[in-house]
Amino acid sequence: MGLVPTMGALHEGHTSLIRKAHSENATVLVSIFVNPRQFNDSSDFEAYPRDEAADVRVCGAAGANLVFIPSVEEIYPDGFQTTVRVGALTEPLEGAARPGHFEGVTTVVAILLTLAGAERAYFGQKDAQQLLVIRRMAGDLGIATKIVACPIVREPDGLAMSSRNMRLTAAQRAAAPILRRALSAARARYDAGERDAEVLRASMRITLSAEPLVAPEYVSCADPDTLRELERVAGPALLSMAVRFGAVRLIDNEPLP
Ligand code: AMP
Repeated sequence: MGLVPTMGALHEGHTSLIRKAHSENATVLVSIFVNPRQFNDSSDFEAYPRDEAADVRVCGAAGANLVFIPSVEEIYPDGFQTTVRVGALTEPLEGAARPGHFEGVTTVVAILLTLAGAERAYFGQKDAQQLLVIRRMAGDLGIATKIVACPIVREPDGLAMSSRNMRLTAAQRAAAPILRRALSAARARYDAGERDAEVLRASMRITLSAEPLVAPEYVSCADPDTLRELERVAGPALLSMAVRFGAVRLIDNEPLP
C-alpha cells in the first residue's frame, strides 16, 4: 500500500503524488484531513478551502483505491494527550514563523502512518522542511514506511501549486510568480559562480522588493540536511522563502545545485 496524506482541496501537485503512488503500489490510500493542530493561526484554519465531493472524484481519477476522511474527533478523541515533537530541524524557517506547526504535522502524520501501515508514503518537495522533519521522525521512531519525495508541480507561469492559491485576488495571483522569479534570480547568481550565501539571499530579497503586493517573511540559503543558514555554499544547499500576499501565506523553494 502507498499512503498520500493531504489536507484536501486537491490540485495537480497532489495528483502527481497519487499517480506516483499508483505506479509503485497495488493499493493507494489518500487521506484528507484538515488538521487543526498544525494551524498556528485559527483564521487560516477556518479559511482553508474544503470540497470533499470534488476531492473524492480527483482521487479516483488519479488512481487512488481508498480515501480516508476522518473527523477531528476520530483523529483526536476525548482524552487524546500525545504530541510528537522533532528537535532542531523544526526550529528554523517554517518552525520559527509558525510556532507549534510542526508538532501538529508530526503528531498527525505519526498517527496516519501508524494507522495505514503502508509500505510507502508520498510527500511533496514543495514543503521541503516538512519532508525532512517527517523523514527524521519516521527514522527516529522506527516507523517502517518508506518516505518518498516527489518534485514540485508548478503552474505554467512558475507559481508552485497550492490549495492557498485560490484565496489570492486577481492582482495577487498575477504577482505571485515573483516567488519563483526570486528563486531563479538566486539560482542564476549561483550558476554564474556566486557562492556567498548572503549574496544569494540578497538577490531573492531584491527581486521580491520590486513587487509591492508581497510582504516577505523570510528568505533562506541553508544546508539541505540541517537547515542551518549557510555563509558559503560549498556543496548542496536549499534556497527557500515564505511571503504573504495580504492574509495568504505562500512558500517555495529550490535545491542547489
Ligand atoms: P497539503 O494538502 O498542502 O498538506 O499537501 C499534501 C501533500 O501534497 C504534501 O506532501 C505536499 O508537499 C504535497 N504538495 C502540495 N503542493 C504540491 C506541489 N505543488 N507539488 C508537489 N507536491 C505538493
